Amino acid sequence: MIKIKTREEIELMRESALIVSRTLGILAKEVKPGVTPLQLDKLAEEFIRDNGAEPAFLGLYDFPNSLCMSPNDQVVHGIPTNKPLEDGDIISIDCGSYKNGFYGDHAYTFPVGNVDEKTLQLLQVTKESLYEGVRAFRAGNRIGDVGNAIQVYAEKYGYGIVRELVGHGIGREMHEDPEMPNYGKKGRGKKFVEGMVVAIEPMVNMGTQKIKQHKDGWTITTKDNLPSAHFEHDVAIVDGKPELLSTFKYIYDALGIESNEEDEFRQIKI
Ligand code: MG
Ligand code: MG
Repeated sequence: MIKIKTREEIELMRESALIVSRTLGILAKEVKPGVTPLQLDKLAEEFIRDNGAEPAFLGLYDFPNSLCMSPNDQVVHGIPTNKPLEDGDIISIDCGSYKNGFYGDHAYTFPVGNVDEKTLQLLQVTKESLYEGVRAFRAGNRIGDVGNAIQVYAEKYGYGIVRELVGHGIGREMHEDPEMPNYGKKGRGKKFVEGMVVAIEPMVNMGTQKIKQHKDGWTITTKDNLPSAHFEHDVAIVDGKPELLSTFKYIYDALGIESNEEDEFRQIKI
């Protein structure tokens, strides 16, 4: 059952989402060769707790850490390790928070040091595909419209869209209805209405869409071991239109990147 949120609930969800956004902003400064995922995980946990929230992934379905950290050919759900990041790596960082009874959940894939052009393009296209999906999340559209927008955009580049893992509704539970696939047909599936809040999160592989699961029960990698990228936003339908509750602004501020890609989805203060 899809749980519709009131304006007041959406404001509380924005608070949870922005704690994640700010956490990713803190991490953006620290993602460099030599740092270990476990160091970043500790930093994130401290920052989330210092802001009166709980790290939502810690203990969720028995996950052992606060961040899912998935380097290179890992798609999602990577467990933070002591292996230092290396120049030329990419690392997907997925972060969750819980505050005032609501969850925030979003993700960004960072380049580490100097990354080759081909891989940088994968990151850029995956992020753009996320905005294609966000744009289609509006009252009157359907689940397939979002999936189709993401799929059509990413497949133009010959990339593989992961099928087994999807976006989701979010609210008082981390994972609520509906499932939000990153592929699909226009006009299919449930219709979107005012007050829906979802996490849209394309997982895009440079090569095959196929994945495999590791023995640890968590880590997902690409079947061909080519790189994979993952970007995620929390989005509400307000006045019929998509409104971002999370933002990459803090990441861009930390890295000195100028971007206006979020402008059309931001009717609000940060
Ligand atoms: Mg996530
Ligand atoms: Mg999610």
